[in-house]
Order: sequence, then structure tokens, then C-alpha cells
Amino acid sequence: MKKKIAALLTVVLAAALLINNFSSSSATSYSSITSDSIREKEEGIKKAEEERKELENSLTNAQNIKKQLEAEKKDLNNYITQLDIKLSEIQDNIARLNEQITQKELDIARTQEELARAREVEAAQYEAMVHRIQYNYEQGDATYWELIFSGESIADILTKVEYMERIAAYDKEQLNEFMLNRQLIEVTEQQLLTDMALLEETREGVLAEEAAMEELIQAKMQTIKEYENNIANKEQAIKEYEADIKERNEIVEALEAAIAEEKKRIMAANGSLLTYDGGQFKFPVASYTKLSSDYGMRMHPTLGVEKFHNGIDLASPTGTAIFAAYDGKVIAASYSGSMGNYIMIDHGDNLYTIYMHASKLYVQTGDIVVRGETIAAVGATGRTTGPHLHFSVRLNGEYVSPWNYLSQ
Ligand SMILES: [Zn+2]
Repeated sequence: MKKKIAALLTVVLAAALLINNFSSSSATSYSSITSDSIREKEEGIKKAEEERKELENSLTNAQNIKKQLEAEKKDLNNYITQLDIKLSEIQDNIARLNEQITQKELDIARTQEELARAREVEAAQYEAMVHRIQYNYEQGDATYWELIFSGESIADILTKVEYMERIAAYDKEQLNEFMLNRQLIEVTEQQLLTDMALLEETREGVLAEEAAMEELIQAKMQTIKEYENNIANKEQAIKEYEADIKERNEIVEALEAAIAEEKKRIMAANGSLLTYDGGQFKFPVASYTKLSSDYGMRMHPTLGVEKFHNGIDLASPTGTAIFAAYDGKVIAASYSGSMGNYIMIDHGDNLYTIYMHASKLYVQTGDIVVRGETIAAVGATGRTTGPHLHFSVRLNGEYVSPWNYLSQ
């Protein structure tokens, strides 16, 4: 019996769908909420489709950038600066995409809950209608239902337009709500699929942006190496290399001079000064793959000249945390074509640390930092042939070995 009723109900619902007479009729408070929910979902689907288009347009074309920068290669410093700007844009794009992923995951979880609720409502509505039909049968109101289901096919039923009038208002209302909820389920399922596809594409977008970043870093590395390996450029490259070191030192010395002036003013006003208590430094990077260049005299890898290396180079993947080696005050958090994104910290008593080539800076000039605080992320900005942290220590206006303050 129950099976037969269920079959009959299916026919009636199919007929109702074809007649399409239900969504617009008599709105109870429940169905108006459902109509709004359906509209909301339809708008959500449209929005997701727009976001998909935006996503496609926002992805970096590394090939185009490489082509654009080809003309800049004659001026290596300018080339490096332009490329670093692009790297920073890609990095911002990755951060934005990751935010979108988090938001989309929340949206999907909410939609899944809504879908589960709508399915519960559907099951309850279906059960109620089955009971109603069963009741009518048992009350002997058979003609009412038999008339409806007497047709051989749905088309036959449809010709009996009058059957709609024969359905009691109560049944019609129930069917109406059932149909609306059914529509809500369908549109919610559709939104879920669209959102999941968008989520997947956004995740792929992050991978694509990371690949584009890697590609540009490789291109930069290649360009610097080619430039320095070119015999015709050799003398020029050595000059540039020396100018580069000079520029770094001038920036650092100017910062120290400015701080010395400031300290004189503070002392004159009887203020207290930052002092270094002699403690051991925190190792300045969370992890590294190798000490790619040590402090001291070294043979330059491509220029073939012996030069003094004023710090240590710690090769480490882009994004690895860079720590403040000791308590102090940030006196520079800036960019130079040579040092890339760099930080200089004053630890008091004429002791300073310098961190170069970061992909991202998390502190600003004037910030007070404590030993071990994350201040930046490893990168390949400035004149470098791969991601690493260059870490220098200065004492009384001279570079000193970082190993005096660090243990490996
Ligand atoms: Zn270095």
C-alpha cells in the first residue's frame, strides 16, 4: 500500500512540475523564506562565475614579464628592481588567493549545512503528504484521488486541468511548499558544485602563482650569472660589484651616523639608552639548507676575484622565517636594488645586525623587537642568485664575524 502511494505521489509531483503552477501561487511565510533563499543561491552562483573570470585574469603571465624586462637587462640594477616589484606583486596575489580559499571553505561548509537542513525538511514534507494520501484513501475519499491518478500518463492527467481545482487548498499548499523546497535543494546543490569548482581553481591559481614566482627568480638568477660570466662585462661587472658593496656600506654607515646623532640628543635630555648585555644571539633564520658563503675573504664564484664577504649567507627556501638576533630597535626596514628588502637593528653599544634579500618585511623602522621575534621572510630580492639570508654584524663601525655572537 505504502509503495503504491509513494508511486502515486511521484506522479502528482511530476505533473505539478510540468504545470509549473506552484512556485508563484499562495505564498505562506515559509515559502517566501524559501523563495528568498532560492534567489540568494542563484545570485551566489552568478557571483562565483564572476569570481572565476576574475581569477583567470589575475594570474601572472611570467613569460610576458620576462619579455617586458628583456629590454631592461642592459641596466642590471634597474632590471633587478623591476623584477623585484613583480615578485612582490605575485606574493600579494598569493596572499589574496589564500584569503579567498579560507573564505570559500567557510562558504562551502555553510552551504552544506543548509543543504542538509533542506533535505530534512524534504523528508518531513514527503512523509506528511504520504500520510495525507493514505488518510484520504482510508476515509473512502477514493474518487478524489482516483480521478487524479486515473490517467495512463502524465499527459493524460494534464488534460484533466480541473484536477487542480479538486485538490483541496491544504494539499495544494503542502505541494507548493514541497516544490519550493525541492527547487531550493537543486539550486543549493548547484551552488555547492560551483563553489567547489571555484575553490579548486583558486588552489590551482596559488600553485600557478608560486610557479610564476619561481620562474622569475630563476630568470633573475640566470641573468645575473650570464652578466657576470660574460668576459666582455668582466671588468665592468667587478666595478659594479665593488660599487654595490660600497652602496651597501654607505647606507649602513649613514644609518649608524643618524642613530649616533639621535643618541647624543637622548643623552643630552638625560634619557636612557639601549644597551647590549652581552647575551648570545638567536640564530637568525628558522632553518637553512647550507651555509652558502661564510664570513671573511672568499673567491667570488663568477667574477673570479678574491673579495671580503662581510656576513654569512644562509641558503634557505623563500618564506622561511627570519628572526631578530637580539633585542633592539629597527633602524631600517627598506629596499635597495643591491640588498633587496633589508632590515638593520640597533642593539645598543654600537652593535648592529643586518638582514638582506627578504621576500617580505614584517617590521617597520622604529619598531622595538625582541630576541627571536619574526621580522621578515627569506627571499631572493636585490642582487642575489637565489633565496638566502645574508646576515651581518657590525660593532663600532666595522663588520665583525657573526660567529662571535652565534653558535650553529
Ligand atoms: Zn652575502
